[in-house]
Amino acid sequence: MSAATIVWFRQDLRLPDNPAFAEALRLRKAILPLYIHAPDEEGAWPPGGAASWWLHHALKDLQAALSEVGLPLVLREGTSLAVLRELIDESGADTVFWNRRYEPSVTKRDADIKEDLRKEGLTVRSFNGSLLYEPWTVRSGAGRSYRVYTPFSKAVAGLDFGTPEPTPSIPPVVLPQTPRSLDLADLRLLPAISWDKGFYDAWTPTRHAGLLRLERFLSAGVQSYHTDRDLPAEDGTSRLSPYLHFGQIGPREAASRCLRGNPGKGRDTFYKELLWREFGYHVLYHHPETPTEPLQDAYRAFPWRTDEAQLRAWQKGWTGYPIVDAGMRQLWQTGWMHNRVRMVVASFLVKHLLLPWQAGARWFWDTLVDADLASNTLGWQWAGGCGADAAPYFRIFNPMTQGAKFDPEGNYVRRFVPELAKLPAAHIHTPWEAPADVLRPAGVDLGENYPRPLIDHKEARARALDALARLKD
Ligand SMILES: Cc1cc2nc3c(=O)[nH]c(=O)nc-3n(C[C@H](O)[C@H](O)[C@H](O)COP(=O)(O)OP(=O)(O)OC[C@H]3O[C@@H](n4cnc5c(N)ncnc54)[C@H](O)[C@@H]3O)c2cc1C
Repeated sequence: MSAATIVWFRQDLRLPDNPAFAEALRLRKAILPLYIHAPDEEGAWPPGGAASWWLHHALKDLQAALSEVGLPLVLREGTSLAVLRELIDESGADTVFWNRRYEPSVTKRDADIKEDLRKEGLTVRSFNGSLLYEPWTVRSGAGRSYRVYTPFSKAVAGLDFGTPEPTPSIPPVVLPQTPRSLDLADLRLLPAISWDKGFYDAWTPTRHAGLLRLERFLSAGVQSYHTDRDLPAEDGTSRLSPYLHFGQIGPREAASRCLRGNPGKGRDTFYKELLWREFGYHVLYHHPETPTEPLQDAYRAFPWRTDEAQLRAWQKGWTGYPIVDAGMRQLWQTGWMHNRVRMVVASFLVKHLLLPWQAGARWFWDTLVDADLASNTLGWQWAGGCGADAAPYFRIFNPMTQGAKFDPEGNYVRRFVPELAKLPAAHIHTPWEAPADVLRPAGVDLGENYPRPLIDHKEARARALDALARLKD
């Protein structure tokens, strides 16, 4: 049996700009592409329902791309090390390549696997296919990692992230016999009860669709991105997050295409957002406890409340604050939520309801197609006031003014909260203040077909500030 290279695909579900795959081609040995479904190895964060939906389609797309170059994608499930060993036996592989991941339980697993397989005489190499700047390559002058975004972004500004590499034009060598593979359906990634109809309307989860989205965005939308990115009713952001999370598009591909265009405020802002993603990975890598523990120690003693009914109301988009409810329903229906609204709903959970940010992070984890441990942790710790570069705790978003400023016509609310669709813009963010002769013709029956606010804004604000004062004491 001739030697072969296993390319272990993980969150790098593409062929171009895939360093592990490119290096395998250059070896000119038979290539065995492999995906192992091992949710138990993701610690407390196995992919949630929405992300699993995306993963199913991304794997199908990868299978198609591989089959175009004559390669199969072997799908297996089980313990990664055991599966790799099985395949090494079955194929005679002497080399294993993968692109690195950075989540705490995965980095540990990968380090162990690398050590074990090397001891067994295999050549094992890992590559960077998922970040512009790997977390250990960015250090302050004092040799420390960064906890604040601006100095981090300045530190990476002068660093070269290289150029995306197209797939080398070397015809892949195929194993004479393909090892057995599970069917994609055997991984059970799609929901058993079909709650995913809205996902199909909202997304085409293929690399081709992601690239089209990127090109269209960079040739038109990006010019006004710095202003439109805050308007949830507009299609003003790239919506690339799930493609980036699953590696259907690499960050080098997105960043280099962005920097290639004419400079401008929109382009600069978009590039800075790509660096927020990098910053999230930097913080997660250097502070692996942060998915569940506050980065700022003082917040461990924060007096969080427990209230299942209110948590449920928030999850279901039934808080009585239209912008919050629209966001939570957009999330449920489409698996994605606009960034401005993510900030509003997160602030509402943490500050208005005093429910722990970890509960919000967990719900997002299960419902976002782009659920990403680094970005989600960063976002939730920011909202909780306890993370890297966090929003100061006393900054409490006012859902009415956020709504009026960023959804002035109420079109975002109308789209996702249809029971309020007929309200005039003047009342759409404050239906409880609307007179009966406005509510009635609009078909709004408060407390019946749309809830009254779960808590009064002023009261909530005072309670949150009081909780903070108690923490300081
Ligand atoms: C509470 C909260 C939770 C979040 N959870 C996630 C998550 O699980 N997964 C996720 O990808 N993003 C998360 N974000 C960040 C951000 O909301 C999304 O990345 C963004 O809305 C995705 O839409 P887009 O691709 O159109 O973004 P664009 O505005 O087009 O930005 C381009 C890319 O930059 C990156 N980016 C933009 N903003 C951020 C940010 N604040 N932090 C990190 N990266 C960013 C993303 O990769 C994004 O695709 C969260 C934000 C908050 C406030």
